[in-house]
Amino acid sequence: MEMPSAEAQGLMEFLYACPVGLVEIDGAGTVTMMNPHAMKHLLPMAGDRDMTNLFSILEGCAPELRNLFDAHESGRGTVADGLRIMVDLGRGRGGSDPKVLSCTLVRMRPDRAIATFVDITQQVAQERRLRQAETWFASLLDGINDYAILTISADGWIEAANASFPRQTGMAVEHVVGRYLDEVLTIDAQSGELLCGDQLRLAERDGWCLTEGWQARTDGGRYWCQRLVAARVAEGDAGVSGFTVVLRDVVRQQGDSDELRRMLTRDHLTGAANRAHFYRIAEREQQRWEADGRPFSLVMIDVDHFKAVNDVHGHPVGDRLLRALTEACQATLRPGDLFARLGGEEFAVLLPNTDIGRAMLLAERLRAQVAAMRIDGQGGPLAVTASLGCADIHHGGPTIEALVAAADSALYAAKRGGRNRVSRYAALMEVGAA
Ligand code: GH3
Ligand code: MG
Ligand code: MG
Repeated sequence: MEMPSAEAQGLMEFLYACPVGLVEIDGAGTVTMMNPHAMKHLLPMAGDRDMTNLFSILEGCAPELRNLFDAHESGRGTVADGLRIMVDLGRGRGGSDPKVLSCTLVRMRPDRAIATFVDITQQVAQERRLRQAETWFASLLDGINDYAILTISADGWIEAANASFPRQTGMAVEHVVGRYLDEVLTIDAQSGELLCGDQLRLAERDGWCLTEGWQARTDGGRYWCQRLVAARVAEGDAGVSGFTVVLRDVVRQQGDSDELRRMLTRDHLTGAANRAHFYRIAEREQQRWEADGRPFSLVMIDVDHFKAVNDVHGHPVGDRLLRALTEACQATLRPGDLFARLGGEEFAVLLPNTDIGRAMLLAERLRAQVAAMRIDGQGGPLAVTASLGCADIHHGGPTIEALVAAADSALYAAKRGGRNRVSRYAALMEVGAA
């Protein structure tokens, strides 16, 4: 047998690995080449038909392809361009989406043509969801006026609000038009609610996004609000031209969901955010920083000589101390800050929109609060101290792991410096420690 040239071998490797199904046929539809990707899609639909002929394989799903091919008299050019082939292998009935292939068939010579097959099942499912959303909307807009509706531009600012919006929220229409969605809607990001930007991104991807949470009213009250964000697609255009947001004032359908959310996000002993929740929120903050460059900081806190507290006063007193420390710190922090227990007697504070200078001031306040605490111990009030380390994403980052490590190294500098103090991360620190 003749050895294939390097070029022919390269082509074979490409055809083999190519993520698009490729089939080469002659003038009668006989398959002269089929790459593995095409085999994966086509062979299951051949049934007991002739597998050596492309048109027989597709007889069940796309019988029109043979006619199109035969009718292509000039013998050259595009026979089918993105023809959608629904593959019903009996799977589509169980509620799952049927598989859809997109087929393009190009005839190069009267006796040679190439067909490509691409799986577009996901894309088709998304289009369907988009259409459903639009239908849902159309009925909303005609029939029911009890919904507040906001029209949002593709960049996320409010273009219009309907008359129900002031009734529902107390905010005047002229006061919200031109502002960004997240300046108007109340999003409790600390408890894991999706930020408005994320809601828009999901709507852009999936057609819509449904969330719910408390929404503030200008009279100081609040109501449980279901928000539906739907992407608007311009006619004949694949892109999103804007969004429509529907706000619905509903009686809260919950009961256990508050408790469930608490269990998933809070530490059972102290009520501080738990480790997993801390990392979730921190990752989100990091992504926001990458997008808009607003700095954020991290403060790590470790109780000094805590082992001795347990040894002298007993574990229950140690537990009480951890609860008191959480309470004292939370009282000092701002509403957007996140106080978390990362483990044992180690805590972290995530400070959005805060550079290292302001983080140091806040950490110093926390240190003073902890030092001022008095716990009922064995034989009288017990005082403790803590050491704190600060870093910001700009100097300590750029990943959350790097930021935590930077704040940790600052914390250990505070320990080495004599405890009951605050240290800030400096790039030279690791060199000094090494
Ligand atoms: P340092 O000043 O160097 O931080 O000394 P330390 O004694 O605080 O440091 P170390 O990390 O060695 O001790 C931590 C102790 O925290 C050990 C463990 O018994 C205690 N601990 C961890 N989790 C809990 C808890 O949930 N409750 C109580 N009471 N103690 C805990
Ligand atoms: Mg420790
Ligand atoms: Mg300690």
